[in-house]
Amino acid sequence: MAEPYLKIENVRKSFGQTTVVQDFNMAVERGEFISFLGPSGCGKTTVLRMVAGFEQPTSGSIRIGGKDVTNLKPNQRNIGMVFQAYALFPNMTVGQNIGFGLKVAGKSKAEIDKRVDEMLELISLPGFGDRYPYQLSGGQQQRIALARAVAPKPSVLLLDEPLSALDAKVRVSLRDQIRTIQRELGITTIFVTHDQEEALSISDRIVVMYGGKAEQVGTPFEIYNKPTTRFVANFVGTLNVLKGTVVDPASGQVKVGDNTVNLDRDLGARKAGDSVSLALRPEAVSLGRNDLRETSVAATISDVHFLGSVIRVRAKVGENSVSLDTFNDPSAPPPSAGSAAEISFARRDLMVLDD
Ligand code: ATP
Repeated sequence: MAEPYLKIENVRKSFGQTTVVQDFNMAVERGEFISFLGPSGCGKTTVLRMVAGFEQPTSGSIRIGGKDVTNLKPNQRNIGMVFQAYALFPNMTVGQNIGFGLKVAGKSKAEIDKRVDEMLELISLPGFGDRYPYQLSGGQQQRIALARAVAPKPSVLLLDEPLSALDAKVRVSLRDQIRTIQRELGITTIFVTHDQEEALSISDRIVVMYGGKAEQVGTPFEIYNKPTTRFVANFVGTLNVLKGTVVDPASGQVKVGDNTVNLDRDLGARKAGDSVSLALRPEAVSLGRNDLRETSVAATISDVHFLGSVIRVRAKVGENSVSLDTFNDPSAPPPSAGSAAEISFARRDLMVLDD
């Protein structure tokens, strides 16, 4: 099988005595859009900076297009990068900013002008070439930064939280534009973010990072629906946790509050009397009985938030709090806080977490 386009192998990075990245492995295919997702300080930026060549791995190697680049300087790697702060050259026009990398590479004026116009078309800012950065909005400046990064046709595009300085509406629209442009160019991309919604919506695959390690690598669907560690399950999406006690480990009977939930699966090494945490996404829980969700348990509604098209409900099951959304039905009375209710879920949707 051909080697992946970008290969990060057994990379480790220590600053003095502190190791901030360890055992990091990642294979990225050509044209893939990969997000590094994780909390502040988990090492996302450090891995990105090692790919860019701004940091040298303490050990391990990085290969791009079949070539070992571990010891190459940033400008020898053919990488495009966009940072969180716009970082445009303030004293240069938009056109000069976009053409900067091409000028450094010694391209002719005619070539640069042509490419700058192509890039302005690509980011939907035709005719903006003579403006200065201070005359542009934050979102426009970030589009220019993106154009500047991709103008020299880099082999890999690295985006370090490029949306975090923008307000919510611009973030979403630029996020979609980044993805469209990335697809159009077919450029291999790594996107660093701590925002799970951003990572889920934009990526081919996500690397969830924690404590300098990759916790899980998978498609957004896999990361959200099949988290392999408790950290991933908690960090990505909302999770309802039902704390219970094992009644019968072989058949998966668990007591939760006054209810017995039958998981119909072997709970492995757990014994009767052990405590166990069952987890459910809000969308896997219905208010009331549901034909498709065979398990119903008694609950008390504790909170109701009317959001328009949906109503967000919190319900108590014993000591546990469960969040769920129910569609607003204009012809039915809304759920009311303090009332008794049943909630339903399917046993196949329950995740069993290690305590
Ligand atoms: P954030 O989203 O906050 O930037 P991150 O996941 O990108 O977080 P990194 O910036 O990669 O995290 O930092 C990982 C750890 O390495 C942090 O604890 C940080 O303090 C440490 N670190 C990063 N650069 C250096 C450095 N040059 N010297 C010492 N420690 C560093």
